[in-house]
Amino acid sequence: MLIIPIFVPHAGCPHDCCFCDQKKISGHKEPPSAEEIKKTVDTYLDIIKNYSVVQIAFFGGSFTAIPREMQEMFLKTVNPYIKDGLVDSIRLSTRPDYIDGETLSMLKEHSVKTIELGAQSMDDDVLLASGRGHTAADTACAADLIRAYGFELGLQTMTGLPGASYESDLYTADRIIELKPQIVRIYPTVVIRDTFLHKMYDKGIYKPPSLEKTVDLCAELMVKYTNKNVKVIRMGLQSSDGISIGGDIVAGPYHPAFGQLVKSRIAYDKLAKMAEIERANSVDGNESGVFTASVPYKELSDYIGQKNQNVIKLKEQFGYEKVIIKPIN
Ligand code: SF4
Repeated sequence: MLIIPIFVPHAGCPHDCCFCDQKKISGHKEPPSAEEIKKTVDTYLDIIKNYSVVQIAFFGGSFTAIPREMQEMFLKTVNPYIKDGLVDSIRLSTRPDYIDGETLSMLKEHSVKTIELGAQSMDDDVLLASGRGHTAADTACAADLIRAYGFELGLQTMTGLPGASYESDLYTADRIIELKPQIVRIYPTVVIRDTFLHKMYDKGIYKPPSLEKTVDLCAELMVKYTNKNVKVIRMGLQSSDGISIGGDIVAGPYHPAFGQLVKSRIAYDKLAKMAEIERANSVDGNESGVFTASVPYKELSDYIGQKNQNVIKLKEQFGYEKVIIKPIN
């Protein structure tokens, strides 16, 4: 699927959530004009061909909280592409407390297919401490309504927010699964320069969890969601989000290949399980010191890990002299 992103930074946001600076993350400062939107869509359609599904995505702000005329201007600007068969549908992201039946009917009329809600946490104490301005119940109500109107539901979540713990983030995932989203995004909280969270961090009121602990947590979350057939479409901010360590990121568990670290962590758990089973079943306790694992070809790099880290860890944990990870088709 090709997604054509149109950023509407902070458009409609009733206030600043403590961690957010959409202008920095999206690299856009003002909502786009109709001409700018058309130019973006035309450029994508000109350059990138051969996609079976094309979606235009309004990201960055709280779409349904912006004035209705502006929402309709955005949607009417892109609707001709759908009528002409060049684009299949529209997706947008918004806040849970700006969803109602009338708004959803209007979105439906304008070919919106997917609505992503910024749930962030399902723990009310965390939502309060993060300045979100809505409750977990708001998210649950909005999610139910979105599904009832027949939209594809996406839920965006964050780990490590102020007031959150490893356990509360696992709890959030359980509650999110109950809301039956088709897709989920997981963003570990990072401290972005000049946000309120930055002030909290400087004053020692907020301390972000380590990268290692966040990778462990996100691996658990990923397994939870996957086991319940919820597709995780994004894990962590990417360097293409226009931010970088030492630049706009002041602190926090940021890594340019965060998603791969999580996949490697999950792969390591599988390798360790194979090693335990092999040890339990071998007559001589694997005296040769050689461990061989056959893994799916496409996931080979996840199993090996960045800088061979899973191989090194297996040797350390199980005392192997040699670890062979063989790809199979
Ligand atoms: S509602 Fe979303 S875009 Fe608006 S300030 Fe909060 S996190 Fe940022």
